[in-house]
Amino acid sequence: MIPRALNFEGPEPLLYLIATPIGNLSEMTPRALQVLQQTDFIAAEDTRNSGQLMAHFGIDKPFISCHEHNEEEASARIVSLLKDGKKVCFMSDAGYPCLSDPGQRLVARCLEAGIKVSVTSGPSAAINALACSGLPSEHFHFEGFLPAKPTEREARLRELDPYPETLVFYESPHRIFKTLLSMAAILGGDRKAVIARELTKTHEEFIRGTLGELALIDESTLRGEMVVLVEGGKKSQREMTDNEIALALKDQLEWGKTSKEAIKAVCESSGLPKNRVYEIYIATFKRD
Ligand code: SAM
Repeated sequence: MIPRALNFEGPEPLLYLIATPIGNLSEMTPRALQVLQQTDFIAAEDTRNSGQLMAHFGIDKPFISCHEHNEEEASARIVSLLKDGKKVCFMSDAGYPCLSDPGQRLVARCLEAGIKVSVTSGPSAAINALACSGLPSEHFHFEGFLPAKPTEREARLRELDPYPETLVFYESPHRIFKTLLSMAAILGGDRKAVIARELTKTHEEFIRGTLGELALIDESTLRGEMVVLVEGGKKSQREMTDNEIALALKDQLEWGKTSKEAIKAVCESSGLPKNRVYEIYIATFKRD
């Protein structure tokens, strides 16, 4: 049987992840502050950075350094403290831990050791950007940072090319220009895209256009922190087998669509040319 336990009941220790502001300090939640006031230790990606944040809110607790390069060792120490009955919180530099930030290995080690995990909610650059992008948000793919090496970055973009969901990337100002150029070349200059810059800060800005247009923006004006969102790709012919197309048509017909309406709907949702869908319709549904 799968073991179950409510997070806030029972004797098991619990690690709190704390989501922190991504620019605007007023977005530190009262709940996060309450949990931090009651904790014994604050584990942090950058103890100096989090020290300043905590000083701003008048919180003075011992820090444990837990970053990308020592996460395994730090996790062992944090697990041991939690098992000894100490309260420990973990925060990254900004936004949610574990989202393009350390924390995932710490969470895994805690769960393996029977320690529960909870999070105090807060802002995340990806979600803020997606909500205001105007791009389809029902489904999205969070990519985070692309690889730094150009060949690896371009290979990854080629893999992402057919993804139909809105793509969400993190990027740094010194690489944004090259990234936009690669995106326009590989994903297509006509795809809609948005740069969400300096979210929650004084100079917050959304730049909306096509990838081709965004790649022509003066590089020197793209400063600060930014998220890049790109419209998903239309499913291409090579992705859908004849059988999948036939099933998509059958689905439409079963909803009471006429043959013409069914073919139109499948063409629109898949991006496939009408003649291919029509041929499969004839071959599948008009055999006699
Ligand atoms: N954990 C964070 C989160 O939940 O959003 C992300 C951390 S990641 C190391 C930092 C990247 O997030 C930045 O390079 C940028 O792409 C994005 N980012 C963080 N704060 C931002 C902001 N205020 N405006 C736009 N993008 C931001």
